Order: sequence, then structure tokens, then C-alpha cells
Amino acid sequence: MRFASLGSGSRGNGSIVASQTTAVLVDCGFSYKEALTRLKRLGLDPDDLDGILVTHEHSDHVSGVEALSSKHGIPVYASRGTWIEVGTANFNKSIYINDLFSIGDIDIMPVTVPHDAREPLQFVFSCHGVRLGILSDLGSISQRVVEGYRDLDAISVEFNHDVELLHQGPYPGFLKTRVGGDFGHLNNGQAAELLKRIAGDRLKTVVACHISETNNDTSRVEQALDSALENQNIRRLIASQSDGFHWIEIGTP
Ligand SMILES: [Zn+2]
Ligand SMILES: [Zn+2]
Repeated sequence: MRFASLGSGSRGNGSIVASQTTAVLVDCGFSYKEALTRLKRLGLDPDDLDGILVTHEHSDHVSGVEALSSKHGIPVYASRGTWIEVGTANFNKSIYINDLFSIGDIDIMPVTVPHDAREPLQFVFSCHGVRLGILSDLGSISQRVVEGYRDLDAISVEFNHDVELLHQGPYPGFLKTRVGGDFGHLNNGQAAELLKRIAGDRLKTVVACHISETNNDTSRVEQALDSALENQNIRRLIASQSDGFHWIEIGTP
């Protein structure tokens, strides 16, 4: 299995999870044209996609989904709540919390997360024994998340903001409260704490994603990653808004 990102942050998100025979896009918060350019960078054409998973209805995750799916006939998988909020007929496959489903040879477990959307889900992927977690847009660490994201080979996890930078930063008060709240986004400390709780022997790759360009900086993210993973032999990467990250191989496909 391998994964990559079209871009990650509050101005648009999209991740690709692929086996040798199947490719799945998780979210598309980019315009159609922009998504095409970003897919091409990864050597992909929209017609290569076997499905689009939507985590929740916020525009940085859905704004490009309808165009991409309708122009290329790609099935869209989302929770009922997300489907209702987005209100498009193209969201044609309902998925359910803790209800394993498959696209091609990739098995997908939807996990519920505390976030201020109607029915947000994040996903754990497995293929031929290799396990990858994608986790962003959650304001606190729930028991379900800890249980769902154990025994992974790789994880892409939200390091949204630094508490200090958020407080000092330019956001209006209500937005600071929202972002920093239990149904907002993970701060560096929370993300590090989560990693400590779920990191097992097989974890070899950690990508920090959904990083705020306003309320965080890479040196603080690196510090938090180091505090969580110490000197374990785990590869650490940081996803960017402009470039996401290029293909990362995990296990044999
Ligand atoms: Zn988001
Ligand atoms: Zn969100």
C-alpha cells in the first residue's frame, strides 16, 4: 500500500491511498482544475480513482468533490450526516461508523471523531495486512480514536495549531475558541499525546498534516513529533498546503 497528499491545511485537503490495483481519494477541498494539477503531480488521472471518501462537510474537504465525481463517474462514500449537509445526489454510497467496507482490495474502517460537523468520520485502511490511519479534524482524543488507530504501520495525523501561537494570533475570539475547543482541531501537544498512546512496534511512518499556516510553524511541529516519538526509528514527515507530500510506500503492496 502507498499514500500521498494533494495538499493539507485549512485551505484544502486531499489524500490518496492506493494498492497495486485500487486508488482511493480521501476528501477534495480543491477546485476541479487545481485537483487535476495536483493529481497529475502524483502521476494520477481522475479516471484512476475507484472512489472518493468524504470525511465531513467542511469546504476544505468537499469543495471539489462534486465536480470530480460527476465529470468522471467516481462513486462518493460519506456518512448519512455528511451526505445530508452537502446535499448532492452524487454522494451515492452511505457508510457507517465502525462498519468495515471495501473498495477493491482496500478495507476501510470509518471511525467517529469529535469535530463540529454533522457526522464526521476518519478512516483506517488495511490491505494485505498493512494498516494506515488518516486522522484530521478532531478537537479532542476520544477512546474510540485511541482504540481505532492502534496497530498501524503508518499514520497521517493532524498537528493543527500551537496553543501559544493560536492565543497570540490574529483569529477573532470566537474562532480561537472554536479551533481550540473539544470539537475543533488537535493542537501539537494533543497530537503528540495521541501518538504516544497509539504508537506500537510496527509504526514506521508518521506524517503531520492539516497544519495551520497562521497558528503553527514547522519547528514547533517537529519538536512535538520528537517529544512523542523520541529516538524511535520512525520516519517523520510534514505535509504542506502547497505540496502535500509525495508517495510514501508502506509494506509490500
Ligand atoms: Zn479541515
Ligand atoms: Zn473540519
